[in-house]
Amino acid sequence: MRGRGVWIGAALVAAGACAGPETNQMQALAEQYVKLVLAVGQHDADYVDAFYGPAEWRASAVKRPLADIDAEAAAIAAKLAAAPPDGADPLVKLRHRYLTRQLEALRTRVAMLGGKRLTFDEESKALYDAVAPHHDAAEFEGVLAQLEQLLPGSGTLLDRYTRFRDAFVIPPNRLDATFKAAIDACRRRTLAHVDLPPGESFTVEYVTNKSWSGYNWYQGQYRSLIQVNTDLPIFVDRAVDLACHEGYPGHHVYNVLLEKTLVRGRGWPEFQVYPLFSPQSLIAEGTANFGIEVAFPPADRLKLEREVIFPAAGLDAAGAARYYSVMGLVDRLSYAGNEAARRYIDGEIDAAGATAWLERYGLYATVRAQQRLRFIDQYRSYVINYNLGKDMVAQYINARSGGDVSQRWPAFTELLSSPRLPSGLAVGGK
Ligand SMILES: [Zn+2]
Repeated sequence: MRGRGVWIGAALVAAGACAGPETNQMQALAEQYVKLVLAVGQHDADYVDAFYGPAEWRASAVKRPLADIDAEAAAIAAKLAAAPPDGADPLVKLRHRYLTRQLEALRTRVAMLGGKRLTFDEESKALYDAVAPHHDAAEFEGVLAQLEQLLPGSGTLLDRYTRFRDAFVIPPNRLDATFKAAIDACRRRTLAHVDLPPGESFTVEYVTNKSWSGYNWYQGQYRSLIQVNTDLPIFVDRAVDLACHEGYPGHHVYNVLLEKTLVRGRGWPEFQVYPLFSPQSLIAEGTANFGIEVAFPPADRLKLEREVIFPAAGLDAAGAARYYSVMGLVDRLSYAGNEAARRYIDGEIDAAGATAWLERYGLYATVRAQQRLRFIDQYRSYVINYNLGKDMVAQYINARSGGDVSQRWPAFTELLSSPRLPSGLAVGGK
């Protein structure tokens, strides 16, 4: 499913050949880290999200005891701490900090696999370098009251919202054409601002029986496999959201730029592996979600929906403006999903309670709440990477572009090309 590993040996040898002893040590430690991530993957099928280094590294990864993996991670971390980067290259400093922090997250995941229990917030801090703000139920009531005004009628608000939204489902026989139109628009918009290497591309597959709605499997050589889950009907807003999030300028572009800049450009092997339960995921999901707005600010988005996406889906474009004003409000309920997950993981509510929370405060239809609960069971505090990640990335990019929407692309592209940590996104962060 994830493709065969492709070794970009020439670039790495060239980088190592002219390097000093500190660099050689970093290269060796980075390679050890990659192999350690693969070793954790022997215990945790979800852990290795992407790997495109030497195929023999994965092939030779035997199942090692968790205690051995932890001890080696601690040893690598100690060597890193004893060898802080010299010189002024900011990317080298980011690299050192990134590797150190990724190893801490790896050790946490190993401890969890060994049975260690963490609270939701402890886990997100350790794995994703961030803690999501807490919200009371009352904080969502104001948004729900506004939706009551927009969606009058009989039945509960969830019933009315569900009926309203059902009119905006993409018919299955138009799904592929609608996605292709969205991908084409997102790609063209991204290429106008980001210099992507020739040959980059991805394929799209439609799959079922997954807890997620879409997934990017990066395969190296500037290629991705994007899977779209068709278990439930797909609403029209998901076309551009998924095309941007999974493709342009989201996950596909992020992985392509890391390969281009850090793996091939610098010869750094650690970026050929992507451990899912690590700080890198907050950057990945945050940039993928904020990237939707970078590519299509609200007015541009509405124009695209009216002129291209709604017609491709066979929907009446006259309804687009109202649909997006409702969805804009519903989006403000996204942190209700974090609350449901936090209370559920911390044992304050059971599965039925979490489903009820998602329905009441997140306006998830019952089948969607159940799918979301499956996601929470599988990925736990990972949920914060989407909304908190987006907000942290937005704040970082907006601070660097002076609030000028047209100036976001350079800062966004730079973030996609560097190993920055979530804690480094804060104003004044390193
Ligand atoms: Zn994603």
